[in-house]
Amino acid sequence: MCVFCKIANGEIPAYKVYEDDDFLAFLDISQATIGHTLVIPKKHYENFFALEEEKAADLMRVVSKVSKKLKSALAFEAFNLLNNSGALAGQTVNHIHIHLLPRYENDGLRIEFSGKKLSEKEFKALLEKINSK
Ligand code: AMP
Ligand code: ZN
Repeated sequence: MCVFCKIANGEIPAYKVYEDDDFLAFLDISQATIGHTLVIPKKHYENFFALEEEKAADLMRVVSKVSKKLKSALAFEAFNLLNNSGALAGQTVNHIHIHLLPRYENDGLRIEFSGKKLSEKEFKALLEKINSK
């Protein structure tokens, strides 16, 4: 059984900030910023792709609720939402989780996009590929 399933069923402890029948939010054991929280469905889903749309919507409702609770308790003005789906994206625990990352002045966290420029032709070809689905 995976580590987040064990947290969900109470086999191992966690610093819980929210719980209902289907979802759980708890402090990440390694606080990337103060208040770094993970939101999970209690049921095991490998990653974001494994979630049905309806369950994804339910998960985001909880993310919204928990982010507001954190914001009012910790009084931050900015935060990042992050999901790593797949090893290439940096997923290390294979039970879907959304990272809630409060942001503070000089918090040391870096999330960077080093964007690539595409030509108009490349954009059009890319769009055609995507929109053919
Ligand atoms: P990811 O790299 O997106 O799969 O993130 C996994 C996260 O789970 C990391 O930020 C870990 O610090 C966190 N983590 C792993 N084990 C535990 C645990 N037992 N309790 C709380 N957080 C954990
Ligand atoms: Zn699991």
